[in-house]
Amino acid sequence: MSNVPEIFGSMVFNDTVMKEKLPKDTYKALRKTREQGKPMDILVANVVANAMKDWAVEKGATHFTHWFQPMTGITAEKHDSFIYPIENGKVIMEFSGKELIQGEPDASSFPSGGLRATFEARGYTAWDPTSNAFIKDGSLCIPTAFCSYGGEALDKKTPLLRSMNAIDKQAMRVLKLFGNTEAHRVITTVGPEQEYFLIDKAMFEKRKDLIYTGRTLFGAKPPKGQELEDHYFGVIKPRVSAYMKELDEELWKLGIFAKTKHNEVAPSQHELAPIFTTANVATDQNQLTMEMMKKVATKHNLTCLLHEKPFAGVNGSGKHNNWSISTDTGVNLLEPGESPRENAQFLLFLAAIVKAVDEHQDLLRISVASAGNDHRLGANEAPPAIVSMFIGDELMGILQSIEDGSVYHQKDKAFMTIGVDVLPTFPKDSTDRNRTSPFAFTGNKFEFRMLGSTVSIACPNIMLNTIIADTLCGFADELEKAADFNSTLTELVKKTVKEHKRIIFNGNNYSDEWLQEAKKRGLLNLASTVDALPYYLSDANVALFEKYGVFSKSEIYSRYEIQLENYCKQIHIEALTMVDMIKKDILPAACSYMKDLSKEAINKKQLCADISCELEETLLKMLSTLTSDLYKKTIELDDDVESEKEFKDVLEEAKYYRNTVFAQMEDTRKTADEIEKMVGEKYWPYPTYGDLLFSVL
Ligand code: ADP
Ligand code: MG
Repeated sequence: MSNVPEIFGSMVFNDTVMKEKLPKDTYKALRKTREQGKPMDILVANVVANAMKDWAVEKGATHFTHWFQPMTGITAEKHDSFIYPIENGKVIMEFSGKELIQGEPDASSFPSGGLRATFEARGYTAWDPTSNAFIKDGSLCIPTAFCSYGGEALDKKTPLLRSMNAIDKQAMRVLKLFGNTEAHRVITTVGPEQEYFLIDKAMFEKRKDLIYTGRTLFGAKPPKGQELEDHYFGVIKPRVSAYMKELDEELWKLGIFAKTKHNEVAPSQHELAPIFTTANVATDQNQLTMEMMKKVATKHNLTCLLHEKPFAGVNGSGKHNNWSISTDTGVNLLEPGESPRENAQFLLFLAAIVKAVDEHQDLLRISVASAGNDHRLGANEAPPAIVSMFIGDELMGILQSIEDGSVYHQKDKAFMTIGVDVLPTFPKDSTDRNRTSPFAFTGNKFEFRMLGSTVSIACPNIMLNTIIADTLCGFADELEKAADFNSTLTELVKKTVKEHKRIIFNGNNYSDEWLQEAKKRGLLNLASTVDALPYYLSDANVALFEKYGVFSKSEIYSRYEIQLENYCKQIHIEALTMVDMIKKDILPAACSYMKDLSKEAINKKQLCADISCELEETLLKMLSTLTSDLYKKTIELDDDVESEKEFKDVLEEAKYYRNTVFAQMEDTRKTADEIEKMVGEKYWPYPTYGDLLFSVL
């Protein structure tokens, strides 16, 4: 293993490199741009670009690319070499400030959800100096935002940056009210824990479903699944360990703080967690992490599956979005403080989050909605589709006492009045015991657990930042005009607890009782993507996003369309893959087994007329029935997706895909899995669940 501090960030044009490579004035100007968002002078940009290029070429780079995150949810890159022709047919390596600051990829093939029709087809990428440039695969990658010439965001980064500004502004108003004169900015911090599966590459290549859709569309339950719970935190097998080591090293080179790795609950499932950083950088780095996970796997003859539900009946993969806000002076605003004033501030931020989550359950649900995640949320695993939050008994007790105006007792300590008393200390582990909550307070941050493993963390953080900016704004409005700060503050918290405590649930979120209880409390239960997405367009949500400049109305509509279109496309591809696999592989396999069975029966009879062929006949009968049944269902499924249909809009189409196509797929799969259980192993065309889940040693 190489020297970690030495390799860490070696492929990143970070602050240290900037300081070393840039003239003092240029460095200062760049820092200003990075920290205060000040626009950059083209002359300064020229100097920066040249230094970047020299550094990159020294590291073996030949190309540069504007690296961005279109609404496909993955990253995009188009590489240009640094070459510049000079006389005598020779070239030199060049990179200008203009090329650094702005690029013009052909936007017409990226999803724009109707924005293109209304505005210009062209789009441009713009450098995001707050996220460091890095070298990947011989290219200098420059993190960029992607917008249309009309100014509409065509990507995930732009609204994320806007939402970070929104919460910065509102949180700063609150901090000022508490007399904070040191902080200049409030920063959203995020640490995403990433789950994934690792399977053997040769087996992956034998499964068209995994290749085309990322998940298995068939597969009977193996004799052993996850029931022994012997995988979670288990000893890491040598092949996996070698993979994890190389992955860590690659991530470290890219300046990603890969920190924790362990086996997860399901066989072949693992997790990687980085140390948190700003939401913007965490989002870029999570995308890079997912990319590297796949790339490094191939080198070890493994395949990394990032789908939310690669295997039915086995735990799916999620992503835990640990979220907090802190000042630029390094104070975590969700850390309960030690003085009355700090505690009052903490309680106010906590109240703002409680209110935001309750008022905007729909947006949090939408931010994690996808065809893949529909297999997890509410499907008896991971958090349910109902948004609720966990704050622990201790904090709940305190909020409750504020609501009733009573004294909160903890052992020999008591808490009476906000802003006057110090909160009793609550041990951190008392806030970290509920693993079933979709949104849990874990001592000094919230952990949003509804994310699927594939999703970009941009959208969940856009939502969190915006909804909390909004409640903070409301609080700041009231407090700024208050005659008596402390009593207004107490009243605010009191009122918030009273009106929004229904969103707090400290019990088991996986239980049936919670479903009933949540219904009684009037909480939303948006079971699927199709149920959730229409809420995006409500007047209240449009007004909210417009107020904070995070999304314009047309941007919301475009995102709504794209999310639903993606949903339809994914199920469409899955259905076609299913039809293909059944017709080309599964039915022929079953037929060849049946052929051998009948041959065997005929042979036996020829040998001895009164011999029993009961086994062959029974199997043949059962298989004949099942295969005819499967064929019938497959033809219906094929017809469901292939026949011409008219839909009034994309929502109606998505509903059709969920209620008709997806339902038919589930039914068809059941029959195919029955057949798999009966057909001899040597006939079966694919590696089984047992093979896939237990093959990596
Ligand atoms: P667990 O598995 O118990 O949830 P981990 O230690 O694996 O906990 O992950 C916790 C994650 O939370 C890490 O990525 C960590 O960096 C992140 N985290 C810690 N403090 C903060 C914070 N203030 N803001 C955002 N994320 C944080
Ligand atoms: Mg966690």
